[in-house]
Amino acid sequence: MMQLFIPLNFLGFVYREIRGALANIERMFSLLDKVPAIQDIPSASNVTPTQGELAFNHICFNYDERSILKDVSFSIPAGQKVAVVGESGAGKSTLIKLLFRFYDVDSGLITIDGHDIKQLTQQALRQSIAIVPQDTVLFNDTIYNNILYGQPTATDEALKEAVHLANLTDFIESLPQKWQTKVGERGLKLSGGEKQRVSIARAILKATPILVFDEATSSLDSQSEQAILSALKVAAKGHTSLVVAHRLSTIVDADKIVVLSEGRIAEQGTHKALLSQNGVYAKLWRIQNEQTITH
Ligand code: ATP
Repeated sequence: MMQLFIPLNFLGFVYREIRGALANIERMFSLLDKVPAIQDIPSASNVTPTQGELAFNHICFNYDERSILKDVSFSIPAGQKVAVVGESGAGKSTLIKLLFRFYDVDSGLITIDGHDIKQLTQQALRQSIAIVPQDTVLFNDTIYNNILYGQPTATDEALKEAVHLANLTDFIESLPQKWQTKVGERGLKLSGGEKQRVSIARAILKATPILVFDEATSSLDSQSEQAILSALKVAAKGHTSLVVAHRLSTIVDADKIVVLSEGRIAEQGTHKALLSQNGVYAKLWRIQNEQTITH
Protein backbone atom coordinates (compact mmCIF):
# COMPACT_ATOMS: atom_id res chain seq x y z
CA MET A 1 0.00 0.00 0.00
CA MET A 2 2.82 2.39 0.91
CA GLN A 3 4.39 1.95 -2.52
CA LEU A 4 1.03 2.88 -4.00
CA PHE A 5 0.82 6.11 -2.08
CA ILE A 6 3.03 8.32 -4.17
CA PRO A 7 1.92 7.16 -7.61
CA LEU A 8 -1.76 7.45 -6.62
CA ASN A 9 -1.27 10.86 -5.10
CA PHE A 10 0.52 11.84 -8.27
CA LEU A 11 -2.18 10.33 -10.48
CA GLY A 12 -4.81 12.42 -8.74
CA PHE A 13 -2.94 15.52 -9.86
CA VAL A 14 -2.37 14.20 -13.38
CA TYR A 15 -6.03 13.21 -13.68
CA ARG A 16 -7.17 16.75 -12.86
CA GLU A 17 -4.56 18.20 -15.20
CA ILE A 18 -5.64 15.97 -18.06
CA ARG A 19 -9.32 16.57 -17.45
CA GLY A 20 -8.65 20.31 -17.53
CA ALA A 21 -6.52 19.96 -20.63
CA LEU A 22 -8.87 17.75 -22.63
CA ALA A 23 -10.35 20.77 -24.35
CA ASN A 24 -6.93 21.32 -25.80
CA ILE A 25 -5.35 18.14 -27.06
CA GLU A 26 -2.00 19.78 -27.80
CA ARG A 27 -1.75 20.95 -24.23
CA MET A 28 -2.45 17.39 -23.07
CA PHE A 29 0.42 16.01 -25.13
CA SER A 30 2.78 18.70 -23.88
CA LEU A 31 1.72 17.75 -20.34
CA LEU A 32 2.36 14.04 -20.93
CA ASP A 33 5.70 14.99 -22.44
CA LYS A 34 6.65 16.94 -19.37
CA VAL A 35 5.45 14.68 -16.55
CA PRO A 36 7.98 11.81 -16.75
CA ALA A 37 10.85 14.23 -17.33
CA ILE A 38 11.43 14.77 -13.61
CA GLN A 39 14.12 12.41 -12.38
CA ASP A 40 15.87 12.12 -9.03
CA ILE A 41 19.52 13.15 -9.26
CA PRO A 42 21.88 10.24 -8.48
CA SER A 43 23.04 11.81 -5.20
CA ALA A 44 19.49 12.73 -4.05
CA SER A 45 18.91 12.44 -0.32
CA ASN A 46 16.19 10.11 0.91
CA VAL A 47 15.91 11.90 4.25
CA THR A 48 12.49 13.48 4.67
CA PRO A 49 12.65 17.08 5.99
CA THR A 50 11.12 17.40 9.45
CA GLN A 51 10.91 21.12 10.30
CA GLY A 52 8.87 22.40 7.37
CA GLU A 53 10.56 25.74 6.77
CA LEU A 54 9.65 26.54 3.19
CA ALA A 55 11.09 29.14 0.79
CA PHE A 56 10.49 30.12 -2.83
CA ASN A 57 13.53 32.08 -4.04
CA HIS A 58 13.30 34.04 -7.31
CA ILE A 59 11.15 31.42 -9.02
CA CYS A 60 10.62 31.71 -12.77
CA PHE A 61 8.58 29.16 -14.69
CA ASN A 62 7.24 28.89 -18.27
CA TYR A 63 4.72 26.51 -19.77
CA ASP A 64 6.27 26.02 -23.17
CA GLU A 65 7.04 29.57 -24.31
CA ARG A 66 4.56 31.23 -21.96
CA SER A 67 5.97 32.88 -18.88
CA ILE A 68 3.75 31.92 -15.91
CA LEU A 69 5.74 32.80 -12.78
CA LYS A 70 8.17 35.70 -12.75
CA ASP A 71 10.71 36.16 -9.98
CA VAL A 72 8.46 34.92 -7.18
CA SER A 73 10.05 35.01 -3.72
CA PHE A 74 8.45 34.39 -0.34
CA SER A 75 9.12 32.19 2.64
CA ILE A 76 7.14 30.43 5.35
CA PRO A 77 8.88 29.93 8.70
CA ALA A 78 8.20 26.50 10.22
CA GLY A 79 4.73 26.32 11.75
CA GLN A 80 3.33 29.43 10.06
CA LYS A 81 0.47 29.84 7.62
CA VAL A 82 0.88 31.63 4.32
CA ALA A 83 -1.95 32.17 1.86
CA VAL A 84 -1.55 32.80 -1.86
CA VAL A 85 -4.33 34.74 -3.55
CA GLY A 86 -4.83 36.34 -6.96
CA GLU A 87 -7.05 36.32 -10.02
CA SER A 88 -7.80 33.12 -11.95
CA GLY A 89 -4.73 32.17 -14.01
CA ALA A 90 -2.33 34.18 -11.82
CA GLY A 91 -0.21 31.06 -11.22
CA LYS A 92 -1.33 29.90 -7.76
CA SER A 93 -1.77 26.18 -8.56
CA THR A 94 1.45 26.24 -10.58
CA LEU A 95 3.31 27.14 -7.40
CA ILE A 96 1.95 23.99 -5.74
CA LYS A 97 2.92 21.84 -8.74
CA LEU A 98 6.45 23.21 -8.58
CA LEU A 99 6.62 22.49 -4.85
CA PHE A 100 5.68 18.86 -5.56
CA ARG A 101 8.14 18.78 -8.47
CA PHE A 102 5.53 17.84 -11.02
CA TYR A 103 7.57 20.34 -13.00
CA ASP A 104 10.96 21.87 -12.30
CA VAL A 105 11.48 25.61 -12.01
CA ASP A 106 13.25 27.24 -14.96
CA SER A 107 15.27 29.37 -12.57
CA GLY A 108 15.31 30.06 -8.85
CA LEU A 109 15.18 27.66 -5.96
CA ILE A 110 12.53 26.07 -3.77
CA THR A 111 13.91 24.97 -0.40
CA ILE A 112 12.57 22.98 2.53
CA ASP A 113 14.58 23.31 5.75
CA GLY A 114 17.23 25.01 3.63
CA HIS A 115 17.59 22.10 1.16
CA ASP A 116 16.94 22.59 -2.53
CA ILE A 117 14.03 20.23 -3.27
CA LYS A 118 15.95 18.94 -6.34
CA GLN A 119 18.51 17.50 -3.90
CA LEU A 120 15.82 15.29 -2.35
CA THR A 121 14.32 12.15 -3.82
CA GLN A 122 10.76 12.77 -4.96
CA GLN A 123 9.66 10.22 -2.38
CA ALA A 124 11.37 12.10 0.49
CA LEU A 125 9.94 15.37 -0.80
CA ARG A 126 6.37 14.09 -1.07
CA GLN A 127 6.61 12.41 2.32
CA SER A 128 7.13 15.85 3.84
CA ILE A 129 3.98 17.38 2.33
CA ALA A 130 0.30 16.53 2.69
CA ILE A 131 -2.15 18.09 0.29
CA VAL A 132 -5.83 18.78 0.57
CA PRO A 133 -6.62 19.25 -3.13
CA GLN A 134 -9.62 20.98 -4.70
CA ASP A 135 -10.83 17.65 -5.95
CA THR A 136 -10.14 14.65 -3.71
CA VAL A 137 -9.63 11.33 -5.46
CA LEU A 138 -11.67 8.58 -3.78
CA PHE A 139 -11.01 4.95 -4.63
CA ASN A 140 -13.67 2.34 -5.15
CA ASP A 141 -13.17 0.98 -1.64
CA THR A 142 -14.50 1.40 1.89
CA ILE A 143 -14.42 4.80 3.57
CA TYR A 144 -12.10 3.18 6.14
CA ASN A 145 -9.51 2.22 3.50
CA ASN A 146 -9.92 5.52 1.73
CA ILE A 147 -8.85 7.36 4.87
CA LEU A 148 -6.17 4.84 5.86
CA TYR A 149 -4.54 5.60 2.52
CA GLY A 150 -3.17 8.77 4.24
CA GLN A 151 -0.90 6.57 6.35
CA PRO A 152 -1.32 2.83 5.70
CA THR A 153 0.55 1.83 8.87
CA ALA A 154 -1.72 3.90 11.16
CA THR A 155 -3.45 2.22 14.08
CA ASP A 156 -7.25 2.13 14.32
CA GLU A 157 -7.02 4.54 17.23
CA ALA A 158 -5.01 7.10 15.22
CA LEU A 159 -7.40 6.75 12.30
CA LYS A 160 -10.47 7.36 14.47
CA GLU A 161 -8.79 10.37 16.09
CA ALA A 162 -7.98 11.85 12.65
CA VAL A 163 -11.58 11.30 11.55
CA HIS A 164 -12.81 12.99 14.71
CA LEU A 165 -10.50 15.98 14.20
CA ALA A 166 -11.62 16.24 10.57
CA ASN A 167 -15.28 16.52 11.68
CA LEU A 168 -16.21 13.30 9.91
CA THR A 169 -17.27 10.97 12.74
CA ASP A 170 -21.00 11.76 12.61
CA PHE A 171 -21.03 11.47 8.83
CA ILE A 172 -19.37 8.03 8.88
CA GLU A 173 -21.69 6.81 11.66
CA SER A 174 -24.66 7.84 9.48
CA LEU A 175 -23.53 5.74 6.48
CA PRO A 176 -25.42 2.51 5.70
CA GLN A 177 -22.47 0.22 6.55
CA LYS A 178 -20.62 2.85 8.61
CA TRP A 179 -16.83 2.39 8.19
CA GLN A 180 -17.30 -0.46 5.70
CA THR A 181 -19.43 1.60 3.31
CA LYS A 182 -18.02 1.60 -0.20
CA VAL A 183 -17.38 5.06 -1.61
CA GLY A 184 -15.79 6.35 -4.78
CA GLU A 185 -16.39 5.57 -8.43
CA ARG A 186 -18.94 2.79 -7.99
CA GLY A 187 -19.79 3.35 -4.33
CA LEU A 188 -21.57 6.08 -2.46
CA LYS A 189 -20.84 9.54 -3.82
CA LEU A 190 -19.59 12.09 -1.33
CA SER A 191 -20.27 15.83 -1.52
CA GLY A 192 -17.40 18.23 -2.25
CA GLY A 193 -17.21 19.21 1.43
CA GLU A 194 -17.20 15.59 2.66
CA LYS A 195 -14.47 14.71 0.19
CA GLN A 196 -12.32 17.60 1.38
CA ARG A 197 -12.76 16.40 4.95
CA VAL A 198 -11.61 12.92 3.87
CA SER A 199 -8.49 14.63 2.52
CA ILE A 200 -8.05 16.51 5.78
CA ALA A 201 -8.32 13.25 7.76
CA ARG A 202 -5.70 11.70 5.45
CA ALA A 203 -3.46 14.74 5.97
CA ILE A 204 -3.83 14.55 9.77
CA LEU A 205 -2.88 10.85 9.61
CA LYS A 206 0.08 11.51 7.36
CA ALA A 207 1.38 14.04 9.94
CA THR A 208 3.80 15.80 7.62
CA PRO A 209 5.65 19.02 8.52
CA ILE A 210 4.00 20.82 5.56
CA LEU A 211 0.31 21.01 4.71
CA VAL A 212 -0.95 22.42 1.42
CA PHE A 213 -4.59 23.36 1.06
CA ASP A 214 -5.96 24.13 -2.39
CA GLU A 215 -9.32 25.70 -1.70
CA ALA A 216 -12.14 24.68 -4.04
CA THR A 217 -13.12 27.41 -6.49
CA SER A 218 -16.84 26.85 -6.09
CA SER A 219 -18.09 27.79 -2.68
CA LEU A 220 -19.75 25.25 -0.44
CA ASP A 221 -22.70 26.02 1.79
CA SER A 222 -21.57 27.96 4.83
CA GLN A 223 -22.05 25.05 7.28
CA SER A 224 -19.85 22.80 5.14
CA GLU A 225 -17.31 25.58 4.73
CA GLN A 226 -17.16 26.09 8.50
CA ALA A 227 -16.70 22.34 9.11
CA ILE A 228 -13.77 22.34 6.68
CA LEU A 229 -12.18 25.46 8.08
CA SER A 230 -12.30 24.25 11.66
CA ALA A 231 -10.92 20.83 10.61
CA LEU A 232 -8.13 22.55 8.72
CA LYS A 233 -7.23 24.68 11.69
CA VAL A 234 -6.73 21.51 13.70
CA ALA A 235 -4.76 19.82 10.90
CA ALA A 236 -2.51 22.86 10.46
CA LYS A 237 -1.68 23.24 14.16
CA GLY A 238 2.08 23.01 14.59
CA HIS A 239 2.57 22.52 10.83
CA THR A 240 3.68 24.86 8.10
CA SER A 241 0.73 25.60 5.87
CA LEU A 242 0.44 26.95 2.39
CA VAL A 243 -3.10 27.82 1.38
CA VAL A 244 -4.26 28.69 -2.11
CA ALA A 245 -7.38 30.70 -1.37
CA HIS A 246 -10.26 31.90 -3.48
CA ARG A 247 -12.37 33.28 -0.67
CA LEU A 248 -10.43 35.90 1.26
CA SER A 249 -12.65 35.44 4.33
CA THR A 250 -10.96 32.06 4.90
CA ILE A 251 -7.44 33.46 5.24
CA VAL A 252 -7.72 36.65 7.30
CA ASP A 253 -5.83 34.87 10.09
CA ALA A 254 -2.82 33.93 7.89
CA ASP A 255 0.63 35.02 9.10
CA LYS A 256 1.21 36.34 5.60
CA ILE A 257 -0.82 36.75 2.42
CA VAL A 258 0.99 36.71 -0.91
CA VAL A 259 -0.92 38.45 -3.70
CA LEU A 260 -0.05 37.14 -7.17
CA SER A 261 -0.91 39.09 -10.26
CA GLU A 262 0.03 37.88 -13.74
CA GLY A 263 2.70 35.62 -12.26
CA ARG A 264 4.38 38.29 -10.13
CA ILE A 265 4.03 39.12 -6.47
CA ALA A 266 2.06 42.34 -6.36
CA GLU A 267 1.99 42.60 -2.56
CA GLN A 268 2.62 40.55 0.56
CA GLY A 269 1.75 41.14 4.20
CA THR A 270 -0.89 40.43 6.81
CA HIS A 271 -4.59 40.99 6.08
CA LYS A 272 -4.52 44.15 8.17
CA ALA A 273 -1.36 45.55 6.58
CA LEU A 274 -2.61 44.83 3.06
CA LEU A 275 -5.95 46.50 3.72
CA SER A 276 -4.24 49.65 4.96
CA GLN A 277 -1.97 49.57 1.90
CA ASN A 278 -5.16 50.01 -0.15
CA GLY A 279 -3.77 48.20 -3.22
CA VAL A 280 -4.67 45.02 -5.13
CA TYR A 281 -5.65 43.00 -2.05
CA ALA A 282 -7.82 45.76 -0.61
CA LYS A 283 -9.62 45.95 -3.95
CA LEU A 284 -10.20 42.16 -4.07
CA TRP A 285 -11.47 42.32 -0.48
CA ARG A 286 -13.96 45.07 -1.30
CA ILE A 287 -15.22 43.20 -4.39
CA GLN A 288 -15.75 39.96 -2.44
CA ASN A 289 -17.53 41.77 0.39
CA GLU A 290 -19.87 43.49 -2.05
CA GLN A 291 -20.65 40.11 -3.64
CA THR A 292 -21.42 38.61 -0.21
CA ILE A 293 -23.77 41.47 0.62
CA THR A 294 -25.65 41.31 -2.71
CA HIS A 295 -26.09 37.47 -2.59
P1 ATP B 1 -7.30 29.40 -10.71
O1 ATP B 1 -7.55 30.36 -9.60
O2 ATP B 1 -8.27 29.58 -11.84
O3 ATP B 1 -7.18 27.96 -10.26
P2 ATP B 1 -4.38 29.73 -10.85
O4 ATP B 1 -3.95 31.05 -10.32
O5 ATP B 1 -4.24 28.55 -9.96
O6 ATP B 1 -5.87 29.84 -11.40
P3 ATP B 1 -2.68 28.24 -12.66
O7 ATP B 1 -3.51 27.00 -12.68
O8 ATP B 1 -1.43 28.21 -11.88
O9 ATP B 1 -3.57 29.50 -12.21
O10 ATP B 1 -2.38 28.62 -14.18
C1 ATP B 1 -1.53 29.71 -14.54
C2 ATP B 1 -1.52 29.84 -16.06
O11 ATP B 1 -0.88 28.68 -16.61
C3 ATP B 1 -2.90 29.89 -16.68
O12 ATP B 1 -2.88 30.85 -17.71
C4 ATP B 1 -3.11 28.51 -17.26
O13 ATP B 1 -3.90 28.55 -18.42
C5 ATP B 1 -1.70 28.08 -17.59
N1 ATP B 1 -1.54 26.60 -17.47
C6 ATP B 1 -1.90 25.85 -16.40
N2 ATP B 1 -1.56 24.55 -16.62
C7 ATP B 1 -0.99 24.50 -17.83
C8 ATP B 1 -0.41 23.44 -18.63
N3 ATP B 1 -0.37 22.19 -18.17
N4 ATP B 1 0.10 23.76 -19.85
C9 ATP B 1 0.06 25.05 -20.31
N5 ATP B 1 -0.45 26.08 -19.61
C10 ATP B 1 -0.97 25.82 -18.40
